[in-house]
Amino acid sequence: MATVAAHDELNVYESAEARFEIAARQLGLEDGLYRFLKYPNKEITVYIPVVMDDGRMEVFTGYRVQHSLVRGPCKGGIRYSPHVTIDEVRALATWMTWKCAVVDIPFGGAKGGIICDPEKLSRSEIERITRRYTAELSEWLGPEKDVPAPDLGTDEQVMAWVMDTFSMHMRHTVTGVVTGKPLALGGSLGRREATGRGLMMICNKALEKLQLKPSQCRTIVQGFGNVGSIAAELMHETGYKIIGASDVHGGLYNEKGLDVPKLVDWVYRQHKPLPEFPGGERTSSQEILFRPCEVLVPAAIENQITSENAHRVDCKILCEGANGPTTAYADDVLQQKGVFVLPDILANAGGVTVSYFEWVQDRQGFFWRESEVNQRLQDVMDRSFDQVVELREAHKVTSRTAAYMLAIRRVASALRLRGIYA
Ligand code: GLU
Repeated sequence: MATVAAHDELNVYESAEARFEIAARQLGLEDGLYRFLKYPNKEITVYIPVVMDDGRMEVFTGYRVQHSLVRGPCKGGIRYSPHVTIDEVRALATWMTWKCAVVDIPFGGAKGGIICDPEKLSRSEIERITRRYTAELSEWLGPEKDVPAPDLGTDEQVMAWVMDTFSMHMRHTVTGVVTGKPLALGGSLGRREATGRGLMMICNKALEKLQLKPSQCRTIVQGFGNVGSIAAELMHETGYKIIGASDVHGGLYNEKGLDVPKLVDWVYRQHKPLPEFPGGERTSSQEILFRPCEVLVPAAIENQITSENAHRVDCKILCEGANGPTTAYADDVLQQKGVFVLPDILANAGGVTVSYFEWVQDRQGFFWRESEVNQRLQDVMDRSFDQVVELREAHKVTSRTAAYMLAIRRVASALRLRGIYA
């Protein structure tokens, strides 16, 4: 690690590679397999011409990276953000492969992204961008090929447009081409809450292991989007004491505990800025990470905890709601501090797990009760946590390395069985 130049710390692809390398070495992965799994299967770049509301034509750049097809169709979200880069999409696609394998669902990993700022686009511009992007990619998408889902900056309406555009090209309705769709179009009950719910399920397991009760856990949630707000709400209901929350506008801290249902109402029903909520002290979105707590949930974006600031983290459990919130350089610092890390590829895998349930329901044309979805999610999260902890203890490695080992082992064994087609 020390040989990598310091300015590369924030390159998420290098973070993903560094973790892969540690786990692959620990597993004694053969050289050929190592190289096969290190690189994506396919990277597609599309230039998306769109007529804007004012009549101008703009061209947006979009990507879809398919990392692995070894265990099934590719699976992973589509992100709309001005900060999208090919390296980021590549890292996120790789993480999806490991995430699907950790929870043992039959998918490989993919990710998509469009460089655009959804805050500055009208809904109809977003619709046109989405439809043209989907049309350009249509030959590579499909329930048996590659199944997108929401991610940063995209939502169930965007998924509905992807589904409709793809279906128009196929000349019949194909609900299983995307997940995270509206319920009326073949979405699954419980999908919207799944990432936050899965996160809490993994935290509950960690608490059990450390013999802590939710009421003893001061909890801070960075990020108040789909993942952070739902995790905060569910954890609050379960008895965790949510003492801090933040979004892009800033943070809010109250050592007595925030009134989470009122905060959710403030942000989502009244559309007011989170830090202006009357019921806490204002901080910055970054500073909230360093307040003392038992459970810290970074659920915003990448690269929040780095080698520069990891020594300031003051928690027992770090539960990664975002993808890649901790850099590879920060891993060692957290390990020395004895923080129990619940790595992203395990902690936030509830979303893709219920995406899998949605895909299964679409293909069967038979839909489950919400309690059934949540129970199956519970089974998957509990089993995955136990398997990661078992490997962690057997090999005396961090939970992150154990999660990667579990994932790489599963993909590698499928690959050995399939062999290489020549
Ligand atoms: N974008 C989510 C993730 O990073 C969900 C992916 C999916 O459901 O396919 O896990």
